[in-house]
Amino acid sequence: MALSLFPCNASLLHPQNHHHHQQGVKARSRSLEAVKNLLTSVGITSITTSPHLSLHNGNWVKLICGASFEDVVDVRNLSLVYTLAGVDCIDCAAEASVVSAVNEGIGMARGIVSIRRPWVMISVNDDEDLHFRKAEFDPEDCPLDCARPCERVCPANAISLSSRDSGAQKTFEGGVIVERCYGCGRCFPVCPYDKIREVTYVRDATATSELLKRNDVDAVEIHTSGRQSHMFRELWNRLEDSIGHVNLVAVSLPDLGDSTVSSMNMMYSIMEPHLHCYNLWQLDGRPMSGDIGRGATREAIKFATRLAALKDRPSGFLQLAGGTNFQTIDGLEKEGLFQKTFLLENCWSEVSEAKSYGSPPALIGGVAYGGYARKIVGRVLHKMQSQLDVIHVEEHPEYLLEALREAIALVGTVKCYNKLSYQLS
Ligand code: SF4
Ligand code: SF4
Repeated sequence: MALSLFPCNASLLHPQNHHHHQQGVKARSRSLEAVKNLLTSVGITSITTSPHLSLHNGNWVKLICGASFEDVVDVRNLSLVYTLAGVDCIDCAAEASVVSAVNEGIGMARGIVSIRRPWVMISVNDDEDLHFRKAEFDPEDCPLDCARPCERVCPANAISLSSRDSGAQKTFEGGVIVERCYGCGRCFPVCPYDKIREVTYVRDATATSELLKRNDVDAVEIHTSGRQSHMFRELWNRLEDSIGHVNLVAVSLPDLGDSTVSSMNMMYSIMEPHLHCYNLWQLDGRPMSGDIGRGATREAIKFATRLAALKDRPSGFLQLAGGTNFQTIDGLEKEGLFQKTFLLENCWSEVSEAKSYGSPPALIGGVAYGGYARKIVGRVLHKMQSQLDVIHVEEHPEYLLEALREAIALVGTVKCYNKLSYQLS
Protein backbone atom coordinates (compact mmCIF):
# COMPACT_ATOMS: atom_id res chain seq x y z
CA MET A 1 0.00 0.00 0.00
CA ALA A 2 1.48 3.34 -1.01
CA LEU A 3 1.67 5.71 1.93
CA SER A 4 1.79 9.46 1.67
CA LEU A 5 2.30 10.80 5.15
CA PHE A 6 3.23 14.36 4.34
CA PRO A 7 0.99 15.79 1.69
CA CYS A 8 2.02 19.30 0.77
CA ASN A 9 2.04 21.92 -1.89
CA ALA A 10 5.47 23.35 -1.31
CA SER A 11 5.45 25.57 -4.39
CA LEU A 12 2.83 27.85 -2.77
CA LEU A 13 5.00 28.63 0.25
CA HIS A 14 7.06 31.80 0.92
CA PRO A 15 10.85 30.99 0.63
CA GLN A 16 11.40 31.29 4.40
CA ASN A 17 8.32 29.22 5.18
CA HIS A 18 9.38 26.84 2.47
CA HIS A 19 12.71 26.36 4.28
CA HIS A 20 10.93 25.64 7.60
CA HIS A 21 8.54 23.37 5.79
CA GLN A 22 11.43 21.42 4.27
CA GLN A 23 13.09 21.15 7.68
CA GLY A 24 9.85 19.79 9.10
CA VAL A 25 9.54 17.24 6.31
CA LYS A 26 13.12 16.09 6.90
CA ALA A 27 12.57 15.79 10.66
CA ARG A 28 9.44 13.72 10.06
CA SER A 29 11.21 11.47 7.60
CA ARG A 30 13.92 10.87 10.18
CA SER A 31 11.31 10.05 12.83
CA LEU A 32 9.56 7.66 10.48
CA GLU A 33 12.89 5.97 9.74
CA ALA A 34 13.43 5.71 13.51
CA VAL A 35 10.00 4.03 13.81
CA LYS A 36 10.95 1.48 11.15
CA ASN A 37 14.40 0.90 12.67
CA LEU A 38 12.84 0.37 16.09
CA LEU A 39 10.43 -2.23 14.71
CA THR A 40 13.22 -4.02 12.87
CA SER A 41 15.56 -4.05 15.85
CA VAL A 42 12.86 -5.36 18.18
CA GLY A 43 12.09 -8.05 15.61
CA ILE A 44 8.40 -7.21 15.21
CA THR A 45 8.59 -7.05 11.43
CA SER A 46 9.76 -10.65 11.37
CA ILE A 47 6.73 -11.95 13.32
CA THR A 48 4.82 -14.15 10.93
CA THR A 49 3.07 -16.42 13.41
CA SER A 50 -0.72 -16.43 13.29
CA PRO A 51 -2.68 -15.10 16.27
CA HIS A 52 -3.75 -18.67 16.91
CA LEU A 53 -0.15 -19.82 17.23
CA SER A 54 0.45 -17.03 19.73
CA LEU A 55 -2.36 -18.49 21.86
CA HIS A 56 -0.80 -21.91 21.54
CA ASN A 57 2.61 -20.57 22.56
CA GLY A 58 1.26 -18.48 25.45
CA ASN A 59 2.33 -15.12 24.01
CA TRP A 60 -0.99 -13.81 22.68
CA VAL A 61 -1.66 -10.13 23.35
CA LYS A 62 -5.01 -8.46 22.82
CA LEU A 63 -5.62 -4.71 22.89
CA ILE A 64 -9.02 -3.87 24.36
CA CYS A 65 -10.21 -0.58 22.91
CA GLY A 66 -13.32 -0.92 25.06
CA ALA A 67 -16.74 -2.43 24.40
CA SER A 68 -18.30 1.03 24.86
CA PHE A 69 -15.44 3.24 23.69
CA GLU A 70 -16.47 4.72 20.37
CA ASP A 71 -14.12 7.64 19.78
CA VAL A 72 -13.07 6.65 16.26
CA VAL A 73 -10.04 8.96 16.19
CA ASP A 74 -8.51 7.42 19.30
CA VAL A 75 -9.55 3.90 18.28
CA ARG A 76 -7.81 4.34 14.92
CA ASN A 77 -4.60 5.70 16.50
CA LEU A 78 -4.52 3.05 19.21
CA SER A 79 -5.04 0.33 16.60
CA LEU A 80 -2.22 1.74 14.48
CA VAL A 81 0.25 1.93 17.38
CA TYR A 82 -0.58 -1.48 18.86
CA THR A 83 -0.57 -3.21 15.47
CA LEU A 84 2.97 -1.93 15.03
CA ALA A 85 3.77 -3.16 18.55
CA GLY A 86 2.79 -6.67 17.45
CA VAL A 87 -0.55 -7.41 19.15
CA ASP A 88 -2.50 -10.47 17.98
CA CYS A 89 -5.98 -9.07 18.35
CA ILE A 90 -7.79 -5.76 18.71
CA ASP A 91 -11.08 -5.88 20.56
CA CYS A 92 -13.53 -3.04 19.95
CA ALA A 93 -17.15 -1.95 20.21
CA ALA A 94 -19.61 -3.73 17.90
CA GLU A 95 -20.28 -0.60 15.86
CA ALA A 96 -19.60 -0.36 12.13
CA SER A 97 -17.77 2.98 12.41
CA VAL A 98 -15.53 1.68 15.20
CA VAL A 99 -14.73 -1.53 13.31
CA SER A 100 -13.80 0.60 10.28
CA ALA A 101 -11.58 2.79 12.46
CA VAL A 102 -9.74 -0.27 13.82
CA ASN A 103 -9.20 -1.59 10.31
CA GLU A 104 -8.04 1.81 9.09
CA GLY A 105 -5.46 1.92 11.90
CA ILE A 106 -4.29 -1.59 11.07
CA GLY A 107 -4.08 -0.73 7.37
CA MET A 108 -2.06 2.40 8.10
CA ALA A 109 0.35 0.42 10.31
CA ARG A 110 0.81 -2.17 7.56
CA GLY A 111 1.50 0.66 5.12
CA ILE A 112 4.40 1.81 7.31
CA VAL A 113 6.02 -1.62 7.64
CA SER A 114 5.17 -5.05 6.39
CA ILE A 115 3.57 -6.71 9.38
CA ARG A 116 0.98 -9.43 9.82
CA ARG A 117 -2.61 -8.40 10.46
CA PRO A 118 -4.03 -8.81 13.99
CA TRP A 119 -7.51 -10.26 14.35
CA VAL A 120 -10.34 -7.80 14.87
CA MET A 121 -12.79 -8.78 17.60
CA ILE A 122 -16.12 -7.23 18.50
CA SER A 123 -17.76 -7.46 21.91
CA VAL A 124 -21.37 -8.14 22.83
CA ASN A 125 -23.20 -8.83 26.08
CA ASP A 126 -25.96 -11.23 27.01
CA ASP A 127 -27.22 -9.06 29.89
CA GLU A 128 -26.31 -5.98 31.93
CA ASP A 129 -22.56 -5.72 32.21
CA LEU A 130 -20.12 -3.08 33.47
CA HIS A 131 -18.51 -2.87 30.04
CA PHE A 132 -21.81 -1.89 28.44
CA ARG A 133 -22.82 1.29 30.18
CA LYS A 134 -22.36 5.04 30.00
CA ALA A 135 -22.46 7.90 32.47
CA GLU A 136 -25.07 10.59 31.93
CA PHE A 137 -26.04 13.87 33.59
CA ASP A 138 -27.66 17.13 32.69
CA PRO A 139 -25.03 19.89 33.06
CA GLU A 140 -27.77 22.48 33.55
CA ASP A 141 -28.65 20.72 36.81
CA CYS A 142 -25.14 21.07 38.22
CA PRO A 143 -24.64 23.78 40.88
CA LEU A 144 -22.26 26.42 39.54
CA ASP A 145 -20.10 26.30 42.66
CA CYS A 146 -19.35 22.61 42.11
CA ALA A 147 -15.60 21.96 41.86
CA ARG A 148 -16.33 19.46 39.04
CA PRO A 149 -14.52 16.42 40.49
CA CYS A 150 -16.21 14.31 37.81
CA GLU A 151 -14.01 15.93 35.14
CA ARG A 152 -10.78 15.30 37.04
CA VAL A 153 -11.49 11.68 37.90
CA CYS A 154 -12.44 10.55 34.38
CA PRO A 155 -9.59 8.52 32.86
CA ALA A 156 -10.97 8.94 29.35
CA ASN A 157 -11.34 12.74 29.31
CA ALA A 158 -14.98 11.99 28.66
CA ILE A 159 -16.40 14.83 30.74
CA SER A 160 -16.05 18.41 29.62
CA LEU A 161 -17.86 21.33 31.23
CA SER A 162 -17.80 25.04 30.75
CA SER A 163 -19.99 27.77 32.17
CA ARG A 164 -22.53 29.48 29.95
CA ASP A 165 -23.83 32.93 30.62
CA SER A 166 -27.22 33.32 29.03
CA GLY A 167 -28.41 36.69 30.32
CA ALA A 168 -29.76 36.45 33.85
CA GLN A 169 -28.96 32.80 34.22
CA LYS A 170 -25.56 31.12 34.39
CA THR A 171 -25.33 27.35 33.87
CA PHE A 172 -22.86 24.67 32.93
CA GLU A 173 -22.85 23.29 29.43
CA GLY A 174 -21.17 20.22 27.94
CA GLY A 175 -21.28 17.07 30.07
CA VAL A 176 -20.42 13.52 29.13
CA ILE A 177 -18.84 13.01 25.69
CA VAL A 178 -20.82 9.88 24.96
CA GLU A 179 -18.44 8.24 22.47
CA ARG A 180 -15.49 8.61 24.88
CA CYS A 181 -17.25 7.28 28.00
CA TYR A 182 -16.46 3.61 28.44
CA GLY A 183 -18.46 3.15 31.61
CA CYS A 184 -15.62 2.76 34.14
CA GLY A 185 -17.89 4.22 36.82
CA ARG A 186 -15.27 6.38 38.53
CA CYS A 187 -17.31 9.56 38.20
CA PHE A 188 -20.44 8.10 39.89
CA PRO A 189 -19.28 8.20 43.53
CA VAL A 190 -17.38 11.50 43.32
CA CYS A 191 -20.33 13.72 42.43
CA PRO A 192 -21.24 15.55 45.66
CA TYR A 193 -24.77 16.18 44.36
CA ASP A 194 -25.46 12.67 43.09
CA LYS A 195 -26.24 13.95 39.60
CA ILE A 196 -24.62 11.21 37.52
CA ARG A 197 -26.74 8.32 36.30
CA GLU A 198 -25.62 4.99 34.94
CA VAL A 199 -27.18 4.05 31.59
CA THR A 200 -26.80 0.38 30.73
CA TYR A 201 -27.52 -1.22 27.38
CA VAL A 202 -27.34 -4.54 25.58
CA ARG A 203 -25.77 -4.61 22.12
CA ASP A 204 -28.17 -5.53 19.37
CA ALA A 205 -27.49 -9.17 18.44
CA THR A 206 -28.85 -8.85 14.90
CA ALA A 207 -26.62 -5.88 14.08
CA THR A 208 -23.67 -7.70 15.68
CA SER A 209 -24.39 -10.78 13.62
CA GLU A 210 -24.23 -8.67 10.44
CA LEU A 211 -20.90 -7.18 11.52
CA LEU A 212 -19.48 -10.65 12.07
CA LYS A 213 -20.09 -11.41 8.41
CA ARG A 214 -17.73 -8.61 7.35
CA ASN A 215 -14.43 -10.00 6.16
CA ASP A 216 -12.52 -7.50 8.31
CA VAL A 217 -14.00 -8.91 11.55
CA ASP A 218 -12.33 -12.10 12.77
CA ALA A 219 -13.60 -12.81 16.26
CA VAL A 220 -16.42 -12.22 18.69
CA GLU A 221 -16.44 -11.94 22.46
CA ILE A 222 -19.50 -12.57 24.57
CA HIS A 223 -19.54 -10.83 27.95
CA THR A 224 -21.62 -12.74 30.42
CA SER A 225 -22.17 -13.03 34.14
CA GLY A 226 -22.14 -16.80 33.59
CA ARG A 227 -25.15 -17.10 35.85
CA GLN A 228 -28.03 -17.02 33.40
CA SER A 229 -27.90 -19.88 30.94
CA HIS A 230 -31.09 -18.80 29.15
CA MET A 231 -29.64 -15.34 28.38
CA PHE A 232 -26.44 -16.86 27.06
CA ARG A 233 -28.36 -19.41 24.98
CA GLU A 234 -30.63 -16.72 23.55
CA LEU A 235 -27.69 -14.54 22.45
CA TRP A 236 -25.79 -17.55 21.08
CA ASN A 237 -28.81 -18.61 19.04
CA ARG A 238 -29.12 -15.13 17.58
CA LEU A 239 -25.43 -15.08 16.62
CA GLU A 240 -25.38 -18.66 15.42
CA ASP A 241 -25.66 -18.10 11.66
CA SER A 242 -22.68 -15.70 11.70
CA ILE A 243 -20.40 -17.73 13.97
CA GLY A 244 -19.19 -19.70 10.94
CA HIS A 245 -17.53 -16.48 9.69
CA VAL A 246 -15.14 -16.03 12.63
CA ASN A 247 -11.84 -17.59 13.67
CA LEU A 248 -12.36 -17.29 17.39
CA VAL A 249 -15.19 -17.11 19.91
CA ALA A 250 -14.26 -15.68 23.29
CA VAL A 251 -16.39 -15.73 26.42
CA SER A 252 -15.54 -13.12 29.03
CA LEU A 253 -16.65 -14.05 32.53
CA PRO A 254 -15.98 -13.04 36.13
CA ASP A 255 -14.66 -15.36 38.82
CA LEU A 256 -17.70 -17.22 40.14
CA GLY A 257 -15.74 -19.14 42.76
CA ASP A 258 -16.68 -22.80 43.01
CA SER A 259 -19.33 -22.52 40.31
CA THR A 260 -16.98 -21.09 37.65
CA VAL A 261 -16.19 -24.41 35.99
CA SER A 262 -19.78 -25.66 35.99
CA SER A 263 -20.83 -22.36 34.44
CA MET A 264 -18.11 -22.68 31.78
CA ASN A 265 -19.21 -26.23 31.03
CA MET A 266 -22.83 -25.09 30.74
CA MET A 267 -21.87 -22.37 28.22
CA TYR A 268 -19.57 -24.70 26.32
CA SER A 269 -22.36 -27.26 25.93
CA ILE A 270 -24.56 -24.51 24.42
CA MET A 271 -21.84 -23.41 22.00
CA GLU A 272 -20.30 -26.73 21.07
CA PRO A 273 -22.72 -27.89 18.32
CA HIS A 274 -21.97 -24.75 16.27
CA LEU A 275 -18.44 -24.04 17.41
CA HIS A 276 -16.24 -24.77 14.41
CA CYS A 277 -13.46 -22.36 15.32
CA TYR A 278 -11.13 -21.75 18.26
CA ASN A 279 -12.56 -20.74 21.59
CA LEU A 280 -11.15 -18.76 24.46
CA TRP A 281 -12.14 -17.95 28.04
CA GLN A 282 -11.38 -14.41 29.08
CA LEU A 283 -10.84 -14.39 32.83
CA ASP A 284 -12.04 -10.97 33.88
CA GLY A 285 -10.33 -10.33 37.20
CA ARG A 286 -11.10 -6.73 38.14
CA PRO A 287 -12.80 -5.04 35.21
CA MET A 288 -11.43 -1.73 33.93
CA SER A 289 -8.93 -1.23 36.75
CA GLY A 290 -5.52 -1.88 35.16
CA ASP A 291 -4.62 1.79 35.14
CA ILE A 292 -5.44 2.31 38.83
CA GLY A 293 -2.39 0.73 40.40
CA ARG A 294 0.13 -2.06 40.25
CA GLY A 295 -1.92 -4.37 42.46
CA ALA A 296 -5.02 -4.24 40.24
CA THR A 297 -3.77 -7.27 38.35
CA ARG A 298 -3.81 -9.60 41.37
CA GLU A 299 -7.38 -10.77 40.94
CA ALA A 300 -6.88 -11.78 37.32
CA ILE A 301 -3.78 -13.76 38.30
CA LYS A 302 -5.58 -15.42 41.19
CA PHE A 303 -8.46 -16.33 38.87
CA ALA A 304 -6.07 -17.81 36.28
CA THR A 305 -4.05 -19.72 38.87
CA ARG A 306 -7.13 -21.36 40.31
CA LEU A 307 -8.64 -22.22 36.95
CA ALA A 308 -5.43 -23.52 35.41
CA ALA A 309 -5.21 -26.10 38.18
CA LEU A 310 -8.66 -27.54 37.46
CA LYS A 311 -8.90 -30.49 35.14
CA ASP A 312 -12.63 -30.62 34.54
CA ARG A 313 -12.95 -27.29 32.73
CA PRO A 314 -14.06 -27.27 29.10
CA SER A 315 -11.83 -26.92 26.09
CA GLY A 316 -10.48 -23.51 25.12
CA PHE A 317 -7.57 -21.17 25.65
CA LEU A 318 -7.34 -19.15 28.85
CA GLN A 319 -6.56 -15.44 28.69
CA LEU A 320 -6.29 -12.86 31.47
CA ALA A 321 -8.06 -9.49 31.49
CA GLY A 322 -9.53 -7.06 34.02
CA GLY A 323 -6.86 -5.14 35.92
CA THR A 324 -4.02 -6.32 33.67
CA ASN A 325 -1.04 -3.99 33.49
CA PHE A 326 2.74 -3.87 33.53
CA GLN A 327 2.82 -6.19 36.56
CA THR A 328 0.76 -9.00 35.07
CA ILE A 329 3.54 -11.06 33.53
CA ASP A 330 5.67 -10.73 36.68
CA GLY A 331 2.71 -12.07 38.65
CA LEU A 332 2.20 -14.99 36.25
CA GLU A 333 5.91 -15.80 36.38
CA LYS A 334 5.81 -15.87 40.18
CA GLU A 335 2.95 -18.38 39.98
CA GLY A 336 4.96 -20.46 37.50
CA LEU A 337 2.27 -19.95 34.88
CA PHE A 338 3.91 -17.78 32.25
CA GLN A 339 4.31 -19.80 29.04
CA LYS A 340 4.18 -23.01 31.03
CA THR A 341 2.90 -25.82 28.84
CA PHE A 342 -0.11 -27.96 29.45
CA LEU A 343 -0.02 -31.35 31.08
CA LEU A 344 -1.50 -33.50 28.37
CA GLU A 345 -3.63 -35.64 30.60
CA ASN A 346 -5.76 -32.58 31.40
CA CYS A 347 -8.00 -32.52 28.38
CA TRP A 348 -8.45 -34.33 25.07
CA SER A 349 -8.67 -31.13 23.03
CA GLU A 350 -5.29 -29.95 24.26
CA VAL A 351 -3.89 -33.32 23.16
CA SER A 352 -5.18 -32.68 19.63
CA GLU A 353 -3.68 -29.16 19.73
CA ALA A 354 -0.36 -30.70 20.67
CA LYS A 355 -0.59 -33.14 17.77
CA SER A 356 -1.13 -30.35 15.24
CA TYR A 357 1.74 -28.21 16.53
CA GLY A 358 4.13 -30.87 17.75
CA SER A 359 4.17 -29.30 21.21
CA PRO A 360 1.67 -28.99 24.04
CA PRO A 361 -0.20 -25.67 24.25
CA ALA A 362 0.59 -23.13 26.93
CA LEU A 363 -1.57 -23.32 30.03
CA ILE A 364 -2.32 -19.59 29.75
CA GLY A 365 -2.77 -18.42 26.16
CA GLY A 366 -2.01 -14.76 26.85
CA VAL A 367 -3.13 -11.44 28.19
CA ALA A 368 -5.57 -8.70 27.15
CA TYR A 369 -4.72 -5.12 28.08
CA GLY A 370 -7.39 -2.44 28.24
CA GLY A 371 -7.32 0.67 30.43
CA TYR A 372 -3.59 0.45 31.08
CA ALA A 373 -2.73 0.06 27.39
CA ARG A 374 -4.98 2.96 26.48
CA LYS A 375 -3.54 5.16 29.23
CA ILE A 376 0.15 4.82 28.34
CA VAL A 377 -0.40 5.50 24.64
CA GLY A 378 -3.34 7.84 25.23
CA ARG A 379 -1.21 10.38 27.09
CA VAL A 380 1.09 10.68 24.06
CA LEU A 381 -1.90 11.03 21.73
CA HIS A 382 -3.49 13.57 24.05
CA LYS A 383 -0.26 15.60 24.16
CA MET A 384 -0.08 15.54 20.36
CA GLN A 385 -3.68 16.60 19.94
CA SER A 386 -3.35 19.43 22.44
CA GLN A 387 -0.02 20.73 21.09
CA LEU A 388 -0.73 20.34 17.39
CA ASP A 389 -3.89 20.54 15.40
CA VAL A 390 -3.61 17.00 14.07
CA ILE A 391 -5.57 13.87 14.78
CA HIS A 392 -3.62 11.19 12.90
CA VAL A 393 -0.55 10.07 14.79
CA GLU A 394 1.35 8.99 11.65
CA GLU A 395 1.34 12.61 10.48
CA HIS A 396 3.81 13.33 13.29
CA PRO A 397 6.03 10.28 13.50
CA GLU A 398 7.94 11.72 16.46
CA TYR A 399 4.76 11.18 18.50
CA LEU A 400 4.23 7.81 16.84
CA LEU A 401 7.73 6.82 17.95
CA GLU A 402 7.05 7.94 21.52
CA ALA A 403 3.72 6.11 21.65
CA LEU A 404 5.25 3.04 20.07
CA ARG A 405 7.98 2.79 22.69
CA GLU A 406 5.28 2.73 25.38
CA ALA A 407 3.27 0.09 23.53
CA ILE A 408 6.29 -2.10 22.79
CA ALA A 409 7.41 -1.98 26.43
CA LEU A 410 4.01 -3.38 27.47
CA VAL A 411 3.46 -5.89 24.64
CA GLY A 412 7.12 -6.91 24.96
CA THR A 413 6.56 -8.29 28.46
CA VAL A 414 4.41 -11.03 26.89
CA LYS A 415 6.19 -11.35 23.55
CA CYS A 416 9.59 -11.37 25.28
CA TYR A 417 11.05 -8.71 23.00
CA ASN A 418 14.66 -7.87 23.52
CA LYS A 419 14.51 -4.98 26.00
CA LEU A 420 17.85 -3.57 24.90
CA SER A 421 16.46 -2.96 21.42
CA TYR A 422 13.74 -0.58 22.43
CA GLN A 423 15.19 0.98 25.57
CA LEU A 424 18.46 2.08 24.02
CA SER A 425 17.64 2.76 20.37
S1 SF4 B 1 -15.37 8.44 34.66
FE1 SF4 B 1 -15.78 6.56 33.53
S2 SF4 B 1 -18.03 6.36 33.58
FE2 SF4 B 1 -17.55 8.49 34.10
S3 SF4 B 1 -17.60 9.59 32.15
FE3 SF4 B 1 -15.49 8.97 32.48
S4 SF4 B 1 -15.32 7.01 31.39
FE4 SF4 B 1 -17.51 7.44 31.68
S1 SF4 C 1 -19.48 16.57 40.10
FE1 SF4 C 1 -21.70 16.29 39.78
S2 SF4 C 1 -22.59 18.28 40.14
FE2 SF4 C 1 -20.42 18.59 39.90
S3 SF4 C 1 -20.16 19.11 37.72
FE3 SF4 C 1 -19.88 16.88 37.93
S4 SF4 C 1 -21.89 15.98 37.58
FE4 SF4 C 1 -22.20 18.17 37.97
